[in-house]
Amino acid sequence: MENCPPVVCEASDLLLAFVNSGSLDEWLGDSGATPAGAASDVAAASELRASLIVLLREHSGCSLDPTEVEAAESHLRQVAARYPLVAVIGAETSSLVPAHDGAFGRFAQVLGAVTDLAYRGAWTRVKVCKNDNCHRGFFDKTRNTSALYCSPTCSSQASMRAYRNRRKAA
Ligand SMILES: [Zn+2]
Repeated sequence: MENCPPVVCEASDLLLAFVNSGSLDEWLGDSGATPAGAASDVAAASELRASLIVLLREHSGCSLDPTEVEAAESHLRQVAARYPLVAVIGAETSSLVPAHDGAFGRFAQVLGAVTDLAYRGAWTRVKVCKNDNCHRGFFDKTRNTSALYCSPTCSSQASMRAYRNRRKAA
């Protein structure tokens, strides 16, 4: 899987745009006419982002406390009821669309993207970069799902740091 198939890219781009966004307004603004998020939306977004990042860290092989993972999973199950998707079925196609407009609808799209990736066996490929200066979400395109860093730059920074630490320790 060197090249990301287009459908997978769409879902992972949508998810990563959310996970890597600096603020809710910045992220909502990407879609154009959507009004700025209310304070409660900002809090909901940061909780949603934090829970997703716990699962991405789990995908990256970080040794997490199992209770932290369970708390993230249970938060995501709870909020999924608040951000529903509705099946829109036609003779030729079917898709899941958000039941609400605005921020809630966008959160629903993020959860839909995760589900889409999981159906395609690609959810565990969405990880966080292990470079301490980065920690951005990325999509692992390696054949054996072995990538630890989002880019060659992060990979070389991390190996430089490991080298310096080994020299310090020696
Ligand atoms: Zn990185």
